[in-house]
Amino acid sequence: MDFTKLNQLKKHLSSDIDGIWLSNPENIYYFTGFLSNPHERLLSLLITEDALTLFLPKMEVSAAKKVFDGTIIGYLDTENAYKLTDIHLKTIMVEEDHLTVKRLNELKDNFGITQIKSIDQEIKDIRNIKSEEEINILKQAAAFADEAIEIGVHALKEGVTELEIVREIERHMLSIDGIASMSFDTMVLFGDNAALPHGVPGDRKLKNNEFVLFDLGVVYKGYCSDITRTIAFGTPIEQVQKIYDTVLEANLRAIKTVRPGVKISDCDKAARDYITEQGYGEYFPHRLGHGLGISVHEFPDISSTNHDTFKEGMVFTIESGVYVEGVAGVRIEDDIVVTKDGYEIITGYEK
Ligand code: MN
Ligand code: MN
Repeated sequence: MDFTKLNQLKKHLSSDIDGIWLSNPENIYYFTGFLSNPHERLLSLLITEDALTLFLPKMEVSAAKKVFDGTIIGYLDTENAYKLTDIHLKTIMVEEDHLTVKRLNELKDNFGITQIKSIDQEIKDIRNIKSEEEINILKQAAAFADEAIEIGVHALKEGVTELEIVREIERHMLSIDGIASMSFDTMVLFGDNAALPHGVPGDRKLKNNEFVLFDLGVVYKGYCSDITRTIAFGTPIEQVQKIYDTVLEANLRAIKTVRPGVKISDCDKAARDYITEQGYGEYFPHRLGHGLGISVHEFPDISSTNHDTFKEGMVFTIESGVYVEGVAGVRIEDDIVVTKDGYEIITGYEK
């Protein structure tokens, strides 16, 4: 178990804070390396000054022991997990974004807690900056996303359906060692179907001279990639080609702004201003991008309202898009790492 990140979190314990209670399985995985989906059962990590205590269903104890260095409280479905310890705490920090009211009440009742604070911002700040090891895994995840686009592009032919392409991509990617799942439902949309930013693939058949929008990613060793490419099948009409050129230029301009110290909102602005100049401002209805890590949507938020600055080690997407109903939807999305003095684009498929 690597304690680097956990020690960063532990700094928030003090004479006023007795413990940190993590209940989000993603965060438990992030800080301990133990990955589990408990469904409705209790899975929680209690961090105190002198102990790490993991609460989990008894049937998962042996799996946890392989990666977790700390006290493990395995409980049966018929047992009250909290009663298996004699923990008493006054003040704890919890994930306000995740902990349910039911669990909060259980904590109060069983541990005697009188004061609750949020640990959400502190966790975001830690997860925001990726280590070299995390960046290496994210690069591999991004390379697999490129490969997935390649598989999809090769499978394109007149008359094929969106869902047939989705199945071809997923069949291939999920057979690769280390890829547990796609980052989200693979999106393949033809022609004007792509004009819905979150459209759903169906039985639409591919015609000549249409654009095909692929939006996909894989979860590799717990880390997500997320790429969008809009590919011409034949020669699209001039109006649609102009939309494509606008979205591409916006993507390139936004990426060029990235370096430590630059305001994140200025990156969004670079793309948005250009798209607006070209007359498509009202057709770009979403933020420019989002952070990427063990979650496919995490911090930082790449939007006009985020006035924080880029920092070395941040990893996020830049995804400019223009969607004109009944005509076409074009989005181009890359995964970007902030380096010491600039950026590195880790998705490589041509655009
Ligand atoms: Mn995407
Ligand atoms: Mn995305």
